[in-house]
Amino acid sequence: MGIKITRNTKETVRLNYEGTIENIKGKLEIWKIRKMSLMGKIMILKTMALSTIIYLLTNLPSPENTYIKELENIIYNFIWPSNNERIARKTLIGPIDLGGIKMPDISTLNETLKIGWIIRMYKNEGNWSNCLLSYIPSPNNIELRDYFLRSNLNAKHLSLFLKTKCSILWKEPLYLWFDYNYKQMVQIIDTQEILKQSLFFNSNILIQQKPVYYLKWYKAGLRTIGDLLTDENEYKNIFVLEKEYRINIDFLTYMGIYSAIPKQWKEILKRYKPNKDSIKYKHHLDELISKDKCTKIIYCCRILRIVKTPIQRLLKWEEELETGIDTDEWLDSFKIIYKCTQAIKIRNFDYRFRIRDILTNSKLYKMGLSDTEECYMCGERETILHLYWDCKYNKRLWERLKNIISNAKLATPGKIECLLSLYDTENNTNNIKHFLCTLTKKYIHDSKCNKRKTSVYGLLNYFKTIKDLEEKTSSREGIKKYRKIKRLWHNIKIV
Ligand SMILES: [Zn+2]
Repeated sequence: MGIKITRNTKETVRLNYEGTIENIKGKLEIWKIRKMSLMGKIMILKTMALSTIIYLLTNLPSPENTYIKELENIIYNFIWPSNNERIARKTLIGPIDLGGIKMPDISTLNETLKIGWIIRMYKNEGNWSNCLLSYIPSPNNIELRDYFLRSNLNAKHLSLFLKTKCSILWKEPLYLWFDYNYKQMVQIIDTQEILKQSLFFNSNILIQQKPVYYLKWYKAGLRTIGDLLTDENEYKNIFVLEKEYRINIDFLTYMGIYSAIPKQWKEILKRYKPNKDSIKYKHHLDELISKDKCTKIIYCCRILRIVKTPIQRLLKWEEELETGIDTDEWLDSFKIIYKCTQAIKIRNFDYRFRIRDILTNSKLYKMGLSDTEECYMCGERETILHLYWDCKYNKRLWERLKNIISNAKLATPGKIECLLSLYDTENNTNNIKHFLCTLTKKYIHDSKCNKRKTSVYGLLNYFKTIKDLEEKTSSREGIKKYRKIKRLWHNIKIV
């Protein structure tokens, strides 16, 4: 993987992105021919297509937005070839416990990798320190750089302090870093954190609506809110400060800073005296530098700004089941299938069922894709609830499943548990119950797709096949995985 360099930055960016996007498009066209599940496609995207773009996003300035848009269109066209995006993009990109499946989001990925530049600088993975230093306020020294990057500056105030000729190459990572790092006053409630707040470059400490920087104070060592206070959190008076820091302090400047410190913070400091035992406050940046997977942390945090949970689908379930369901509990239960199996097809089905991405005859009829609303087995109206629960042919399956579960000395699940798997994810004995419920629904689903009547015998066979398959696959992945599968199916007798 090489980057083509030209004399002009813009031209370099254009040249490299255009080639790579074409290349990705070509690769995905080939994969498109295969029939794959949603999750299978996302895996292909991550492993086959995105590595080249990640390389560019890491090493080049951001491309124009049109390139990112084009890439997103290619990707989503691969995911939904018929262009009917049945699940919102903002939902798909979410973490599992917010109802998503971690579909990569290119813009967020780009922002994250750019923020990563700042972290990499600290890990000495690039000789950029000097470049950055030349753009931030004088005096140009490492100590000030560290203070500046840890200050609580809102990105919108960044331009007040950057040299005007700051290169685009650095402006972007800096802007994104401050955008990521900035914390509003109301979110800062810990005494230690308040004491460590910088007096300068702080968008919560405004004088005439702007953050300030007093070089003289900074040089003398007067830099944080904590520096203005005694050990008892009392404000030092101006004479004490002058003596301690050996500078002349102008009364109006002192009053200006004092009154700019937010009232809420003053009140917290008054109420809570510092506790020596309290955990030492660690700045966000230091946390990131100390961790190996810092880009992952940044990405996960940043994606939350745009994620939308599939709450509309839950409302549909509530309406159909005529009961209220706790949203957090519902979303949390999305995690459970990942504890039961690694099989992508089963995980994929579990997800699609949870968010009702399931086609029944009543739905197909509405869409004009079926000439009947009737259940393919019994003739009643085929809704999700009918097919997966009420249909007399499938009721027998659930009865048998309950027998199997109660024979394993586990509490038998009710309707909502069977359908939605609203299990406590902390309790591992629920895993097998959930897995069997999902398999039952998948068996119903597969039978319907093949227009085959369901039967208890067929279900039991399906359970056995999956169990054997899971054991076989896990045995290839080592004893630990194999034991896990054995433990999961322990006590379950498929008869
Ligand atoms: Zn039926």
